[in-house]
Amino acid sequence: MYSDLSLAHFMDGLKKRNPGELEFHQAVYEVAESVMPFILDNPVYQHAAILQRMTEPDRSIIFKVIWEDDAGNLRLNRGYRVQFNNSIGPYKGGLRFHPSVNLSILKFLGFEQTFKNSLTTLPMGAAKGGADFNPKGKSDREVMRFCQSFMTELSHHIGPDTDIPAGDIGVGAREISFMFGQYKRLRHEFTGVLTGKALEFGGSLIRTEATGYGAAFFMEEMLAHRGDSIRGKTCVLSGSGNVALYCAEKIIQLGGKVVTFSDSTGFIYDEQGINAEKLDYLIKLKTFQRGRISEYADKYQCDFFVDEKPWGVRCDLAFPCATQNEIDKQDAHTLVSNGCMAVVEGANMPTTIEAIKVLQHAKLLFAPGKAANAGGVALSGLEMTQNSVRMSWSAEDLEARLANIMKDIHQQCVKYNEDGDYINYVNGANIAGFIKVANAMLAYGV
Ligand code: GLU
Repeated sequence: MYSDLSLAHFMDGLKKRNPGELEFHQAVYEVAESVMPFILDNPVYQHAAILQRMTEPDRSIIFKVIWEDDAGNLRLNRGYRVQFNNSIGPYKGGLRFHPSVNLSILKFLGFEQTFKNSLTTLPMGAAKGGADFNPKGKSDREVMRFCQSFMTELSHHIGPDTDIPAGDIGVGAREISFMFGQYKRLRHEFTGVLTGKALEFGGSLIRTEATGYGAAFFMEEMLAHRGDSIRGKTCVLSGSGNVALYCAEKIIQLGGKVVTFSDSTGFIYDEQGINAEKLDYLIKLKTFQRGRISEYADKYQCDFFVDEKPWGVRCDLAFPCATQNEIDKQDAHTLVSNGCMAVVEGANMPTTIEAIKVLQHAKLLFAPGKAANAGGVALSGLEMTQNSVRMSWSAEDLEARLANIMKDIHQQCVKYNEDGDYINYVNGANIAGFIKVANAMLAYGV
């Protein structure tokens, strides 16, 4: 059945089993292309059909979420939890609340999470979930009622040793708190069932900053490997959520110059550079006031480009930190011709396959999200540990652990890179992530 393991044959089968799930096909293709030669060299994985088994989630739970809006109308959304793989630890991964959420997007995210969590060195399996609910423009009470209804169903499928959700796009401290409260109420248990909690009830220091800090650390590692550093480099970032904001904070601390941020309305370009004080304003604007990025341009008198992406701005380093497929082939050509040296994915799969090929062909350093943004889930893993031992660690201790984990992930990528002098981080991350999970699956038998 699995004797013909050509990439094309494998992808044909996957597409037939998962019709129309384009994001999922894309995420699998990226991994399959890297690991197929490795599997063919190591037939033990082929005989146990590991790649076929790894690309099928253990289960996908889809459920109805009904809630009442402030005007008393009943509203309906669809909730999901895709439990992908628990070979190396309990299912672990975020929840996304965004109108674009569907099964394909959650399967791509859950699949990527398998490799990402494996790379962190911590014992975490993979899952992803969420709903097609849009928290934007909703009152706190509406978000609360949605979260409570969502958790009423989700609570049947998760637990601190079974599946531990966290945040993602549209799910931050407010949503996690409402969901944690509801789980506690329903189960009559105080356990570390979610990560990204507030500090008062089991959250960890540095969790909010970790994804962004980790992406900046990863960039610093890639550059250090070439005898270079972030210091003095002009950096273009997209997004203005936790990932982008704290990636910028770390870049600034490391001596880099951040000139752009974006949201769904467009991007700002501050040629002078965004310093710590301006960043502080932006963090308050985006996190607490839920304002628009154009307000930054009004306050600091810089350019705002409506409905545009920042990839045309000349830069040394680029950090896509918004969402999937935000750098296409044309954007990649623009980055190359503008002299960009390296791209680090702060978001999940922000670069299309064609765009990755353009960047790699031009020998830019390119770090896939499953390696570069793993700092977030790694800190979630450390939050779980702190909850288990009923202690909390200091920010310094946690940041040092995070930096070490990112260093370790970088080393794993370099170890499994097989492209001579040029480090192909996509292959390195995919193969290193694959081996740990695959070996666990082999050990369990069938
Ligand atoms: N949503 C984040 C990610 O893409 C974090 C997941 C977690 O902390 O469980 O990795």
